[in-house]
Amino acid sequence: MTEYEAVIGLEIHAELMTKSKMFCGCAVVDTTVAAPNTHVCPVCTAMPGVLPVINRQAVDFGIMVGVALNCEIAPTNVFARKSYFYPDLPKGYQISQYEQPLAVNGWVEIEADDATRRIGIRRAHLEEDTGKSTHMEGYSLIDLNRAGVPLLEIVTEPELHAAEEVEAFARKLRAILVYLGVNTGDMSKGVLRFEPNISVRPRGSSELRTRTEIKNLNSIRVLRLATAYEIARQIRMYESGGFVVQENLGWDEAHNRTVVQRSKESAEDYRYFPEPDLPPLVIDRERVARLRATSPNCQTPSACASKPWA
Ligand SMILES: [Zn+2]
Repeated sequence: MTEYEAVIGLEIHAELMTKSKMFCGCAVVDTTVAAPNTHVCPVCTAMPGVLPVINRQAVDFGIMVGVALNCEIAPTNVFARKSYFYPDLPKGYQISQYEQPLAVNGWVEIEADDATRRIGIRRAHLEEDTGKSTHMEGYSLIDLNRAGVPLLEIVTEPELHAAEEVEAFARKLRAILVYLGVNTGDMSKGVLRFEPNISVRPRGSSELRTRTEIKNLNSIRVLRLATAYEIARQIRMYESGGFVVQENLGWDEAHNRTVVQRSKESAEDYRYFPEPDLPPLVIDRERVARLRATSPNCQTPSACASKPWA
């Protein structure tokens, strides 16, 4: 029987705990507690003619995370429009970063199988969160309190090879974010979301096969379970002569299995282009040095690992 190896990358969305939203002055609130649509304004509800303003604190928090993840901080950031339609995205696009993100080429060390492994961080970029939809019988409710909350999207290299490594990475990253004071780490409230993309290949091969992505996992336990399930499902698929389809999956908690959500968009579908309402964001080296000097030190493994979340 063929032996298989999983190839896993992670996409992480971390809300940044600033006082105000990414591009307006509305307060960032606990959306599981605040009354719906009470922290909104013309900017985050996408009224015509309004203009975004970049939140300085969100950029500082992003730089702090980038530094803690051993990334290079780009001297010039460009915000980009990522166009897609969704009812909880009133603008019809999300302001994100595409070709010139905040941070690139970092790494995080994890302990796996009694060894220390370095997992590459491809990029980390700033963007805004969407609103929240709640689907009822026959209709949906939209809460825009979350629309425009600063988000940091962190993308790893596909260098994880088992569900246990994914868990070790997630715990380490969560500890770093909480330690830096930029995120509460409370996944049950959706402030930190991990989405693994997974493929499997015969062990020893260097090919990259079709991958699937699992969306909206709300705890590290579920992240590990869903990853392990999906690895096994893909192996079964190949072993039975089938093939894996590139698609987005969700986790069916009741039946402990992954289920198809929708076929996957590619970058072309989003029609990225530079955000015309925002100038390029220039980050001078003094700012990076100052944040590096004043941030809690996450470089020593014990500094973050000693925290209770580790
Ligand atoms: Zn607002």
